[in-house]
Amino acid sequence: MDIAITLATPEQRRQKPGDESSLGFGKFFSDHMFLMRYREGTGWHDARIVPYRPLSLDPAAMVLHYGQEIFEGLKGYRGAGGTVCLFRPEKNFERMNLSARRLCMPQIPVKEALAAVTALLRVDRGWIPGSRGTSLYIRPTMIATEPGLGVRPSAEYLFFIITGPVGSYYARGLEPVRILVEETYVRAAKGGLGEAKAGANYAASLLAAKNAKESGYDQVLWLSADGREEVEEVGTMNIFFVIGDGIVTPPLSGSILPGVTRDSVLTITRDWGMNVSERRIGMQELRRAAADGALREVFGTGTAAVISPVGALRYRGDELVVNGGAPGDVSRKLFAEISGIQYGEIFDRYGWVHRVE
Ligand SMILES: *Cc1c(COP(=O)(O)O)cnc(C)c1O
Repeated sequence: MDIAITLATPEQRRQKPGDESSLGFGKFFSDHMFLMRYREGTGWHDARIVPYRPLSLDPAAMVLHYGQEIFEGLKGYRGAGGTVCLFRPEKNFERMNLSARRLCMPQIPVKEALAAVTALLRVDRGWIPGSRGTSLYIRPTMIATEPGLGVRPSAEYLFFIITGPVGSYYARGLEPVRILVEETYVRAAKGGLGEAKAGANYAASLLAAKNAKESGYDQVLWLSADGREEVEEVGTMNIFFVIGDGIVTPPLSGSILPGVTRDSVLTITRDWGMNVSERRIGMQELRRAAADGALREVFGTGTAAVISPVGALRYRGDELVVNGGAPGDVSRKLFAEISGIQYGEIFDRYGWVHRVE
């Protein structure tokens, strides 16, 4: 794949954030972006890196009307000695192809997607923050660009990658969140878009998250559409429970996003010799486990936070307090292990780290 590169002029360069301790998430964007177009019959073409700027779209572009959009989220970490590390990036692009298939969008060869990210990171290397916990967030996205209001898959697409520096998720160590168990709305139903990383899933989730915030909770626990009993995900993360001496996460049954962090947690905890199961788990079992003291930890997993401990779960009239509202040992150990591998500080025995030279 040939990538044409047009560098930003000094006037096109973007204001760099001064202070790495107040980066936040998704507020700053780097100088350049990667673009590539697709047309049925021609395939992918016109791969280029250009200065970051607004896109120009026909107002009838199909993405604007029927939501044919998918995305990915991964991070570039500045490791020891200034090396730039990506964490399992091929998993993100394999998943993007699964999402693409579900939304009738074209496949992108994983090698080409990796070449695009690598080229972009080389150009915007100076945007990767250096302090521990910070990183360069990478957002590959695909949208349907063909103009037309007939409902069918678009014949034209744009694939783009934007990046931007993001802050440490935890300024003061792992901070447990308070979660409201959602019984009215669902994120996804089996057979729907739940296992695809599509913007549409996020649109479906906003109202419940807004209501939870208004009631004093950080996020919601999503239950299955059929029966509102089985646990599926927490906010925009996969969920794990430490019950007795076992660790449990719901199986990938169609409505759950197959997280890269989820897969990494399963691999590591199995390696640690823990009793790990991917099985259905319902609110009745959770309530019982909380009552008899067997429920030791609950945590979410995702690229943004890595591990996000849950301190309390509100279910109907009850508040289930987990580990006294403090992060547990398994959460802490997993956070240290995975972020240590991501920053190149812990030996990468799984070959997960991809260095950008
Ligand atoms: C992206 C995402 C996750 C986490 O996936 P990672 O690959 O671990 O970042 C979990 N749930 C949902 C709904 C997501 O969109």
